[in-house]
Amino acid sequence: MKALDELTFDNRFARLGDVFSIHVLPAPLDSPRLVVASDAAMALLDLAPGEAQTPLFAEVFSGHKLWAETEPRAMIYSGHQFGHYNPQLGDGRGLLLGEVYNAAGEHWDLHLKGAGQTPFSRMGDGRAVLRSSIREFLASEALHALGIPSSRALCVIGSDTPVWRETQESGAMVLRLAPSHVRFGHFEYFYYIKQPEQQKILADHVLAMHFAECLEQPQPYLAMFTTIVERNAELIALWQAYGFCHGVMNTDNMSILGITFDFGPFAFLDDFDANFICNHSDHEGRYSFSNQVPIAHWNLSALAQALTPLIALEPLRQALGLFLPLYQAQYLDRMRRRLGLTSAEDGDMTLVERLLNLMQNSAVDYNLFFRRLGDQPAALAVATLRDDFVDMLGFDGWAADYLARIGREEQGSDSERQARMHAVNPLYVLRNYLAQKAIDAAERGDYSEVRQLHAVLTRPFEQQPGMEQYAERPPEWGKHLEISCSS
Ligand code: AMP
Ligand code: MG
Repeated sequence: MKALDELTFDNRFARLGDVFSIHVLPAPLDSPRLVVASDAAMALLDLAPGEAQTPLFAEVFSGHKLWAETEPRAMIYSGHQFGHYNPQLGDGRGLLLGEVYNAAGEHWDLHLKGAGQTPFSRMGDGRAVLRSSIREFLASEALHALGIPSSRALCVIGSDTPVWRETQESGAMVLRLAPSHVRFGHFEYFYYIKQPEQQKILADHVLAMHFAECLEQPQPYLAMFTTIVERNAELIALWQAYGFCHGVMNTDNMSILGITFDFGPFAFLDDFDANFICNHSDHEGRYSFSNQVPIAHWNLSALAQALTPLIALEPLRQALGLFLPLYQAQYLDRMRRRLGLTSAEDGDMTLVERLLNLMQNSAVDYNLFFRRLGDQPAALAVATLRDDFVDMLGFDGWAADYLARIGREEQGSDSERQARMHAVNPLYVLRNYLAQKAIDAAERGDYSEVRQLHAVLTRPFEQQPGMEQYAERPPEWGKHLEISCSS
């Protein structure tokens, strides 16, 4: 374990030079203080948990102090926003501080979000507010605990710096960790400014640093793109299986690593609703819950287009074609497990679809349903859950088929089924109203609720005595929260 001033840096992306990122110093926040830190994320940097309590910690992650070896830089990228190409985005309020090399031999990007203006800030103030920083922190760590690939969050630092959004709020910084911050939009940038040589330098860097196994393939760039398609199929399958809605799937918010990236107005479904739109500026529902699947495919096509200088069209098309079947297989696999099934039968997808239709029509709480289904012997569980459905006869039909399907399983006893289900069905999810309660307290200077909620969400599958209130359905006021997309 290390102290904060003992980290080892190896800034590989910064060494690519000014074509790819620009040196910018962070603009510090006033009266910085620790809001919350993640011990699990600290461990990725070999940092002892106690380090977060030191005054130095809040100073460093609010932009007051830097290690001598860091090279804070704003990355250059572009991207498609809501389907339209925006030629220049780039880090407008976040800085890549450097890459930490840990004892396990991994590199972790340290990205400070809310660090002030950069040449890419356009009209923005370069800041992030406490509200959105807490949301990003909680979501990153909660998704990771659910087993859904995500960028991580080390800490949130709050401050007295005023920041104007719809009203006056306070500025904060979140320290994000990821093995890479390269987005689809990095490749699009060099494609659209017609700089294939620079794009090749970027691709070679990403290949060597993050897709080394592809270097052994006959066509390394194609192997890399294929891996990106596969990882995105797996990621989106998990989002859909667990009811996670990202909200802003622009290509500049898509990581080449296939991890959940750049949190804005995201939400976990409370009641099941395939058409749910969590982003209030998304009037057409481009990024609605069920559209996440075709949109991920659209985004991969945008990346494929950008990679045409490096990869021939036909193999690119074939690799893209892998997305949907892979997604479907991964999604069905996860849904089978959520239903406690260990074998595969042809009718399983229909069983899932019928259940989702019933849930949609009765506004049944999505994640709690699966948890409750594994709480008791199957026949008792469905009898209890029946009350949540308006179409009780419809549910009875589904339940009879489900019980028959469970009966054809060869895997062990019902208590084993229950244990299997509890291992994949979370009791605690980051519901918007839970985040909002924690944010309201934090805005009054009380960080205990953010810390408590974070602690609960790091063990989502384990029943935690005394934490029952975090497992409840939202109260009426909490179901229709307008989550501002300003951040
Ligand atoms: P986002 O919607 O957060 O993914 O951001 C889209 C683009 O806008 C990125 O280039 C961001 O860096 C930039 N941006 C977002 N908010 C701000 C802000 N407050 N100040 C400067 N740039 C911003
Ligand atoms: Mg973004």
